[in-house]
Amino acid sequence: MERFDIAIVGGGLVGASLAASLSELIEQYHLRVVVIEAAAISLEKRTWQPSFDQRSSALAYGTRLHFERMGLWQHNNEQAGLASEACPIHQVHIAERGRFGAARLNDREMGTEALGYVVPNAWMGQVLMQRMATLPLTWRCPARVEQITPVQDGHQLTLDNGDTLQAGLTVLADGGRSPLKKLLGIESAVHDYQQSALISTLEISRPHHGVAYERFDARGPMALLPLNGQRMALVWTRAPERLAELESLSDAQLLAEIQRFFGDRLGRFTRIGTRSIYPLQLVQAREQVRPHLAVLGNAAHSMHPVAGQGFNLALRGVIDLRDALEKALAQGLRGGEAAVMHDFERRRALDRDVMVKASHGLVELFGIDNPLLSHARALGLIGLNLLGPVRRGLTRRAMGIER
Ligand SMILES: Cc1cc2nc3c(=O)[nH]c(=O)nc-3n(C[C@H](O)[C@H](O)[C@H](O)COP(=O)(O)OP(=O)(O)OC[C@H]3O[C@@H](n4cnc5c(N)ncnc54)[C@H](O)[C@@H]3O)c2cc1C
Repeated sequence: MERFDIAIVGGGLVGASLAASLSELIEQYHLRVVVIEAAAISLEKRTWQPSFDQRSSALAYGTRLHFERMGLWQHNNEQAGLASEACPIHQVHIAERGRFGAARLNDREMGTEALGYVVPNAWMGQVLMQRMATLPLTWRCPARVEQITPVQDGHQLTLDNGDTLQAGLTVLADGGRSPLKKLLGIESAVHDYQQSALISTLEISRPHHGVAYERFDARGPMALLPLNGQRMALVWTRAPERLAELESLSDAQLLAEIQRFFGDRLGRFTRIGTRSIYPLQLVQAREQVRPHLAVLGNAAHSMHPVAGQGFNLALRGVIDLRDALEKALAQGLRGGEAAVMHDFERRRALDRDVMVKASHGLVELFGIDNPLLSHARALGLIGLNLLGPVRRGLTRRAMGIER
């Protein structure tokens, strides 16, 4: 049976980011790391084909700083960088549909070149895979972990091909469903928003100037995020029945609905790409660590995408875990010990609670269809515009540069 120091279950955005973040520790401490990924993903060099249809994520400015430290932001001769496909967000414009009053968050005010960036998920995947291919780690793919059992000083993992391996620290980065969490008896708090998100790409007739829009109304928010070129990423939240209706429309009819909801601030919406629908839940694992175990990414917390914070929060978890491991290794520990895991969880708890509550609060606040409250919300948005320090504090947190 093979034995590893660290087993990362799931090579999605979060598992791959963790593997990439460990590169120096792997070399310095000769760590034996395995990443196990169920989907057939190749680490071989691929050519990048930007596509109109790909899904994208808003990365906070703080996330850019983390990727920069990992050497994954700028291109260099050996390593592709995220920057080449990243569209900067210079302003976020938040308003309630049909109401007077809007809040604007600006990069100029924050003294940074952008508040964040919108990057195609497929490009993030490619950059991360390229880094992983250079690391002395074991890549088991396609392979699914089917059983996980606590053993002395770690866990034993059984793969779908019958192989077993042991690890001193197992990281569950196996996504929102995470059957492994259930196998270990880790329960989750689940809040079903009774909403789904329609995701697509839109072509617009006017330049977006790097402005991201959040339009709220009581039936759910619409976010439009700037992409390179005259394109925006659409995230439109609605009740599942309403989304089913929208999905049945032709492209021209759907574009007309989006135009009706959003207005003409971006000119005409001229083309829409492939549509996908995601049911939305707030899921939080009730235990994020155990001795020899950490839960990261969607397995730890799946959030409403309204504020685009899920991956940003997860990446801060990745960085904190890496830092906790570095401290432990420097003290001659191996990394999975209970004290190390609790140290890591102490670093995480506040950031996670604040972000989860903020995203959830935003959905709840704007989801209440009450004229008085709507008036108060409009005043709140105007007030936010007037109150520089409050706005800057909020922006710093959304940018991931204040915890
Ligand atoms: C509509 C929508 C929009 C979003 N927009 C943003 C945004 O703008 N900004 C932002 O920060 N976040 C955003 N998010 C959140 C972000 O997408 C997630 O935080 C992120 O994808 C989580 O990645 P993950 O690696 O934890 O999970 P996943 O991407 O689900 O990866 C899990 C991986 O584990 C593998 N796996 C599962 N089980 C096993 C097993 N037993 N054995 C081996 N492998 C296994 C799977 O094959 C998969 O590759 C959005 C989410 C949604 C739904």
